[in-house]
Amino acid sequence: MPGPKVTFPHMGPYWIGFKALAQGLGCEVVVPPPMSARTLELGARHSPEFVCVPFKYNLGNFIEAAELGADTIVQAIGGCRFGYYAEVQQAIMEDLGYRVRFVRADAGRNVFDFLRDLRSKLAPGVPLRQMKRAFELAFRKGEAIDAVLVWVLANLGFEREPGAIERIEARFLRELDAASTRAEVDALLAATLDELAALPLDKPGDPLRVGIVGELYVVMEPFSNLGIERQIARHGVEVHREMTLTNLIRHALEGDRHIRDLVRRSDGWVRYHLGSHGTESVALAHEYAKRGFDGVVHLKPFGCMPEVNAMAALQRYSRESEVPVLFVSCDTQLAETGIATRVEAFCDMLAIRRKGAIHA
Ligand code: SF4
Repeated sequence: MPGPKVTFPHMGPYWIGFKALAQGLGCEVVVPPPMSARTLELGARHSPEFVCVPFKYNLGNFIEAAELGADTIVQAIGGCRFGYYAEVQQAIMEDLGYRVRFVRADAGRNVFDFLRDLRSKLAPGVPLRQMKRAFELAFRKGEAIDAVLVWVLANLGFEREPGAIERIEARFLRELDAASTRAEVDALLAATLDELAALPLDKPGDPLRVGIVGELYVVMEPFSNLGIERQIARHGVEVHREMTLTNLIRHALEGDRHIRDLVRRSDGWVRYHLGSHGTESVALAHEYAKRGFDGVVHLKPFGCMPEVNAMAALQRYSRESEVPVLFVSCDTQLAETGIATRVEAFCDMLAIRRKGAIHA
């Protein structure tokens, strides 16, 4: 009997890791087509109007993957509206006539339980050893993606030859997808970082620095935020972000300890967990400020309650601590010109403020 044809939602380049995990479990994988205007159009047309925007992008991915033959959809679930995504998306896809099975993967639970659960639903006969190997390869690919991303965001705004950094990055991602062992991934990562480090840069000793915080999907899926990180970087800014997939997995392993730690690190700016990644948004913004960053960008999906909660704390934080925060609400109507104008104004303001001419 043929095995399942598995698909999953896009989230930046992490499809490379998801694919490695599913293939390591012996599944055939259908990677959804790259995010496009069609993905968005399909997702928005068939979703409830006021559902949060990651739902719409995910649904667009699932429809496009189902058109390519995917019959099994892995959808993570979490503690907020994320908990209902899979049921509602399944009902919508059934109404549209797609015969697909949804596998709900509880992203909020212990990673080992998560993997055992995923194995029982996707590949019940697969030995634990094989599952462990598959996860380790997928995780290592995720770590390699993050290591290159950190370098790119910090240096993209200072390259001497326009396009050189992203050419190397694109080749790295293609080769990473093809890598089949951790040793291959490690060698590729080392060679890529060496190649990047050898590029000539025009970078000042003390560049403007901006930290990115917010809801995980719109932070990590550049299509949903119109590539705002790179737009900021191209204004000659070093961009940092702590939220990466491998950090999320590490934090999930820590469970409640991570949340308590965030509340402590916020130095009183939040006293209770705000839900999902709201607490993290405030605590990280505060830490960026303590490290002398020039500004913070907060990204949230339209209507996302945990990040609306974080916004209230961040607005007060920005007012009282004089740290500039750019608030961006991402929805399906996000316009390129609007984002480009706001980013340019924000970066200009940071540069003028650096010279001591204005306050936040
Ligand atoms: S974190 Fe916000 S955007 Fe994401 S599922 Fe929850 S409510 Fe929706």
